[in-house]
Amino acid sequence: MSEKTLFTRIIEREIPADIIYEDEHCIAFRDINPQAPFHALVVPRKPIAMVADATAADEVLLGKLLLAAAQVAREHGHGDAFRLAVNNGAAVGQTVFHLHVHVLAGRSFSWPPG
Ligand code: AMP
Repeated sequence: MSEKTLFTRIIEREIPADIIYEDEHCIAFRDINPQAPFHALVVPRKPIAMVADATAADEVLLGKLLLAAAQVAREHGHGDAFRLAVNNGAAVGQTVFHLHVHVLAGRSFSWPPG
């Protein structure tokens, strides 16, 4: 059996995290190294490594992640202005290979992203 991902270990409470949202499909917790005044990660319980590994069977789950991201932002006072980011692959900065949506808010953001 493959090793549990870091985020599965957070989901299973083996590793502590500041969990701010949870439902049957996903969980959200504050990023340990925040890049904005508000920075959370929304993570599916299913340990899909990255978006490129998702399949048609994950279609609903992917939608639920975005809805959860918006809810988390709203519940923390950032419903009108937040940046979502998903890194897919080490070459673009992915470091944890369990799909996650970054929810960043509370400062201005440049475009295009760096
Ligand atoms: P990425 O680089 O897109 O894979 O994002 C991984 C994110 O996970 C980074 O922003 C890290 O700061 C964050 N991270 C790593 N370990 C933890 C942890 N134990 N608790 C919360 N966030 C973490």
